[in-house]
Amino acid sequence: MSAISLYDRLTPGFDQRVAHAVDVLKQAATEHAGKVVQATSLGAEDMVLTDLIARHEIGIAIGTLETGKLHAETVALIPRIEERYGLRVEVYRPETEAVIHFVKNHGERAMYDSIDLRKGCCAIRKLEPLSRMLASRTAWVTGLRREQSNNRGDVPFSELDDKGRTKFSPLADWSWNDVWHYIATHNVPYNPLHDQFMPSIGCEPCTRAIAVGEDFRAGRWWWEDEKAKECGLHVHGAEETAVSMIGDR
Ligand code: SF4
Repeated sequence: MSAISLYDRLTPGFDQRVAHAVDVLKQAATEHAGKVVQATSLGAEDMVLTDLIARHEIGIAIGTLETGKLHAETVALIPRIEERYGLRVEVYRPETEAVIHFVKNHGERAMYDSIDLRKGCCAIRKLEPLSRMLASRTAWVTGLRREQSNNRGDVPFSELDDKGRTKFSPLADWSWNDVWHYIATHNVPYNPLHDQFMPSIGCEPCTRAIAVGEDFRAGRWWWEDEKAKECGLHVHGAEETAVSMIGDR
């Protein structure tokens, strides 16, 4: 059963939420001309944002993190975006030496051994490349939604991150039904793994399908305590903000 058939639903206020998301994107492009990037995880929400940016010709760059641990289906979306929209996707990869050193010392499955090692892997494969993506930027755009988990219940449309950059979340008030209604309506390309009960897709070793009734993010770092999740990409805890600057999912 496809994600569209499961989740596509038109609910009251949808058109207004779309219009508001476009307004937020235009605000980001105006206030941070040439210095704003959409940090796309290539997940469903981010594909909607990329479609909105392209459809409305909004001056926001598109950047993604190729961690070296992504599913092939996820990586395949990069050329699909470029072909469909005629946009260039900036791809940021981890530093080869750092990855080799980490794997040599801790192994390919280190993320399962301890939270510190999992965060160490995320720091090398996500946070450092993200810091390069954002280095010359004063703002970034994310696909965060309030509905995604309890930790994200207060996501504002824009806020300052711990580095003083403005983080825009144009879909903050969107529901999962909104996301899939938009994807279905506009025939937006999306990761086929969403059709296999993976609402939140990250690196291959750290993502599993969820069961009916499970939280959206139950398929991410499922072996860890709930409070340890988030990857340092979006939370504001002291430990995370030290290395922080992003995009998970
Ligand atoms: S999500 Fe998993 S594989 Fe990806 S960077 Fe983090 S720990 Fe490493």
